[in-house]
Amino acid sequence: MRRILVIGGGIVGLAVARELLLRLPDAKVTLLEKEPGVGRHQSTHNSGVLHAGLYYAPGSLKARLAVQGIRRMTAFCREHGIAHDLCGKVVVATSNEELPALEKLWDRGQRNGLRHLRRLSPDELQEIEPHVRGVGAVHVPEEGIVDYAAVCAALQREIESKGGVVALSSRVTAIREQGATWVVETSGGAHEGDYLVNCAGLFSDRIAELAGVKRNVRIVPFRGEYSLLAPRAQSLVRHLVYPVPDARFPFLGVHFTRMIHGGVEAGPNAVLALAREGYSWGKISIRDLADALVFPGLWRFMRKYPALCGGEVVRSVSRTQACRALQKLVPSLQSADLIPGGSGVRAQAMQADGTLVQDFWIEERPGALHVLNAPSPAATASLAIATHVVSLLPFVPPVAGD
Ligand SMILES: Cc1cc2nc3c(=O)[nH]c(=O)nc-3n(C[C@H](O)[C@H](O)[C@H](O)COP(=O)(O)OP(=O)(O)OC[C@H]3O[C@@H](n4cnc5c(N)ncnc54)[C@H](O)[C@@H]3O)c2cc1C
Repeated sequence: MRRILVIGGGIVGLAVARELLLRLPDAKVTLLEKEPGVGRHQSTHNSGVLHAGLYYAPGSLKARLAVQGIRRMTAFCREHGIAHDLCGKVVVATSNEELPALEKLWDRGQRNGLRHLRRLSPDELQEIEPHVRGVGAVHVPEEGIVDYAAVCAALQREIESKGGVVALSSRVTAIREQGATWVVETSGGAHEGDYLVNCAGLFSDRIAELAGVKRNVRIVPFRGEYSLLAPRAQSLVRHLVYPVPDARFPFLGVHFTRMIHGGVEAGPNAVLALAREGYSWGKISIRDLADALVFPGLWRFMRKYPALCGGEVVRSVSRTQACRALQKLVPSLQSADLIPGGSGVRAQAMQADGTLVQDFWIEERPGALHVLNAPSPAATASLAIATHVVSLLPFVPPVAGD
C-alpha cells in the first residue's frame, strides 16, 4: 500500500489529501498539521472572496486554476451546505490614468473565460453601488464570498470518512530519507511515507529545505491588515468593491468586502511582517527576521519599491491615511467609520533578484512535490490546485481532462 504524507493542513493541503484519497482509494494518506486544528493560518485569515480569474496572465496556472477552481468550489459548497454568496464584484478605475489597466483586466477576464463580464459607465456603476465613485468599472458577476473555515472543516471530515488521517499538533521538525522511505519527525511522533507533498504555506520553503531542496525562492511574509466598517457605514457598499491593482505586485489593493456572516471589511494592505505568522507589529521572530534580512532578494525588492514599502507602513499605522486610500473608492467614508479588524499573512515567494513570483510555483523532486507559492486566489482554486498537484504524481492514473 502506498503511504503518502501531506504536510500542512491549510485549504491546499486538505484539498490535496482529499484528492489523493479520491484518486487512490487504497493509499494510506496522512496529513501533518502543526496546529491543534486545520486551516488556522492563511486559509481563514483572508478576505473570504471567491475569485474568478480576472487578474491573472492568460495561460498561467493561476488563470486556469482560478477559473476551474471557483466553479468547483461553489459546487463543493452547495454539496456540503456551506454558506456562500455569488454576490458579484466591481473593479473600479478612480482616475482616467487607471482606465488602460482596467481595459487590460477586461481583456484578461475575457481571455480567461469569465462569463457575463460587463463594462460599466460611471452611471451604471452608481446603479449597482450608489456610494462608489469611478470613471469606469468592470462588473464580475461570477465572484462572491464564502466561509473558508467551513470549507476546511468539510474537507477534514471528507478525508477522515475516506480513511485518511489528519494528525493535528504535529509540527514537522526533521525529514530524512531512509532508502526509498521518508521519515518525518514531528512534535507528535514520527511518520513514514513513500511520497511527500509539502503544502506548508508560510513555511513551505523551510519544509522543502528539510527535505533536501535548495531554496530557490524564499517565502516573504506580507501582512494584510483589515478594518471593519462601523454599522452605520456598512450600507456604503453592497457587494465587493475593488480598485484597479498595481500590476507590478500580486496584491489586489485595499478593497471592500461584504462578509459571509455579516458586516463589511476594508483591506487588506500589504506590509512586510516581522514574523512569518506575524499578525501584528508586536509579533516578532528573530529567526524569521534574520532569514528575511540575509536574503538579497528582499533588499533588492525594497530598493526597487521604496514608496510601496514606506506608504504601506504609513497606512498601517495611520487610520487617517488608510481612510484616504479607501475614500478614492467611497468618498463619503469617514475615518471614524473604520474599526480595527483582523489580519492575515500572505506566504509570498520571492526570487533572489527581488521579483515576486506571480504564478503558483510547484517544485517536483524524486519522491516529493513542494507547493512553494500558493497565494491568492489559492483558497478559491484549492480544489483545482489539488487536482493539478495530484496529476503530477508519477503513480497516479490520469483522469479525463488531465
Ligand atoms: C490577507 C489575505 C487575504 C486573502 N484573500 C483571499 C481571498 O479572498 N480569496 C482567495 O482565494 N485567497 C485569498 N488569500 C489567499 C489564500 O488564503 C491562500 O492562498 C490559501 O489559504 C493558501 O492555503 P495553504 O493551505 O497553502 O496555506 P495555509 O492556510 O497557510 O496552510 C499551511 C498550513 O501548514 C501548516 N504548517 C506550516 N509549517 C508546518 C510544519 N512545520 N509542520 C506541520 N504543519 C505546518 C500551517 O500551520 C498551516 O495550517 C488571501 C490571503 C491572505 C493572507
